[in-house]
Amino acid sequence: MTYDLHIHSCLSPCGDNEMTVNNIVNMAMLKELDVIALTDHNSSRNCPAFMEAARNVGIRAIPGMEINTSEEIHAVCLFPTLEQAMDFDAYVFSTMPPVKNKPEIFGDQIIVNENDEPIGKMDTLLITASGVSYSELPELMARFGGIFFPSHIDRSSNSLVAIMGGVPEDVEFPFYEFYHLGLYDEFMESNPCLVGKPWLHNSDAHYLWDIAEPERHLDPRIEEMLRKHGLI
Ligand SMILES: [Zn+2]
Ligand SMILES: [Zn+2]
Repeated sequence: MTYDLHIHSCLSPCGDNEMTVNNIVNMAMLKELDVIALTDHNSSRNCPAFMEAARNVGIRAIPGMEINTSEEIHAVCLFPTLEQAMDFDAYVFSTMPPVKNKPEIFGDQIIVNENDEPIGKMDTLLITASGVSYSELPELMARFGGIFFPSHIDRSSNSLVAIMGGVPEDVEFPFYEFYHLGLYDEFMESNPCLVGKPWLHNSDAHYLWDIAEPERHLDPRIEEMLRKHGLI
């Protein structure tokens, strides 16, 4: 299956305002991707429109979120159903510090409907650290029925390895996201515990043209895990 399981919409302040749900699903259709996920920073509030837009064009879609943990580690959380994603959204929102967005500095945080019409804006700044710690994620995913993977594990900011100085042994994750493909071998040399573990490469798109090309297929082990969790 070709995929892109890490895409931001116009709800993320850093996401382009053209990243409406129909633009995202139509671009994914054009690129002939088999499965996509919407993963805005600390929020799933564009997932209702995203799932509807995806249903209308017939592309497989997964509701999700890229959580920013209290340690400023990014992790993508995916859910089998919209209801589960929205329950998790409500929980994460309850832990957010009361910091207001300044759109002129951080960008707009637009909620759209299934026709791409703006129906609201989030006032709380979504790119701050939530109150959820990284070590809580396995338990929270069990509670809310989702699955998580550390985002862009090899990046120098907001990644598990950059923040923790390595991969902590006490928090299990089923697979991880790798970003700079050209640096894979070098990265594995300094993080041998990741060797052999399945990984995926997503676009982390904030602009339409960044959405993945259909050039990579899901690792069969990841595909099986996604099926087992009812995500695809
Ligand atoms: Zn990220
Ligand atoms: Zn991201």
